[in-house]
Amino acid sequence: MLKKTFQLLFLTFAALVQAQNYTPLDTLDKSNRDAFIIKYKLRSEKFDKEIRTKTSGKTGKELEQIYREFQKDFIKELGKNSFSFNTEFNNNLNTIINEIRKNNSNIPEDLQVLVARDNSPNAYCMGDGTFVVNMGLYYLLENEDQIASVMCHELGHYLLEHTTKSQLRRINQNEQDKSKVKEIKRQRYNRSANAFSLFKEKAYETGEYKRKAELQADSLGYKLLKETKYKKLSFINALELLAKYDTLKSKDLKVEAYKKYFSIPDQAFKESWLKKEDFSSYDYSLYKEKLDKDSLKSHPEIVDRVRRLKELFPELSEKTVEIKPTDSFNELSKIAAYERLPNLYASEDYGVGIYLALLNLERENDPDYYKQWMGKCFYKIYEARKNYTLNRYLDRIDPKNQSDSYQQFLSFMWNLSLEEIKNFTEFYNNKSS
Ligand SMILES: [Zn+2]
Repeated sequence: MLKKTFQLLFLTFAALVQAQNYTPLDTLDKSNRDAFIIKYKLRSEKFDKEIRTKTSGKTGKELEQIYREFQKDFIKELGKNSFSFNTEFNNNLNTIINEIRKNNSNIPEDLQVLVARDNSPNAYCMGDGTFVVNMGLYYLLENEDQIASVMCHELGHYLLEHTTKSQLRRINQNEQDKSKVKEIKRQRYNRSANAFSLFKEKAYETGEYKRKAELQADSLGYKLLKETKYKKLSFINALELLAKYDTLKSKDLKVEAYKKYFSIPDQAFKESWLKKEDFSSYDYSLYKEKLDKDSLKSHPEIVDRVRRLKELFPELSEKTVEIKPTDSFNELSKIAAYERLPNLYASEDYGVGIYLALLNLERENDPDYYKQWMGKCFYKIYEARKNYTLNRYLDRIDPKNQSDSYQQFLSFMWNLSLEEIKNFTEFYNNKSS
């Protein structure tokens, strides 16, 4: 019976969201997605043919096979809710690419951009003229010129054929290395072991090779940007922001927030919910050093790129002038901020979703909106808890890799009983009506 009530509540969500100030993007737009898949299939067929004529023999055959495997997985991924189609983001990115192409005739006409429902600031190029831009870039970066800079870098990878070159390099690695790649793939992608994730993470690219490729894409990318109307120093500014992101820590959630949002009429707040698992026997010092090293590792990579760019192009050391973002960029940035919750929901990260909703509620940003998403996530957590699948949607506490604030949140969530979760679910779903 309970389940039915929830289902009913659940069905009304779409209508409720309309009543809010912000209406989430319709990313389930099936017709646009199907149209994209048809175009993508034609594009990959053409691309695979070209690969075969360019690279002969066994290597060419293997290369084609790698791409085929990847394309198959990618089409599967397109069927999920991982991308958004035909949105304002796509329009903006197409405008930017056209702008870059104006004075750079080496950029072909038939490129395609996909927007991923991913909050991390990232973009990648797939070698066949398909580019993926994460929504998170619009949240982190400050203006269109910086987005154009990231696109120029990716266009650099594309023009230099880095994807195919790195695949060829992979093929030519010795047998031992090959099995290592397979092992990495198995270990890291247990949950969604597919060629697409491996591709996205570029797990097979290593140290020096990757470093060279990045620097090449930077140099060419910067040359492309220099020919456009966009401010050339944006290239450095974008990189510096991305470098900072690596070391950014999420804001802390105060204990008062739990008391405020989890004292509800039918259920008094229990101090025991905040009880944390005892990790006192855990030797942090062992990890402390490792953590510091790891967090520094990704950071200098970008710092190094900035330094190399400034060496190659002295004009990049000029003083930065602030660029006022356009209204259209501000609008997209706002959408990207709001979409962080639907994005987490789409990737089934319900635990993180509740945490992000609480962080926003604590700061009193759009309480109705965030309460509603908290309710949606709680419903999924309730279902998972009931079906013994909570592990999939709520992280386990991991003192060596999580902030104290996030560990406190996870303790709270794991301390709740099924009945208590049910009460919060009902409260936050009724609340939004
Ligand atoms: Zn790159």
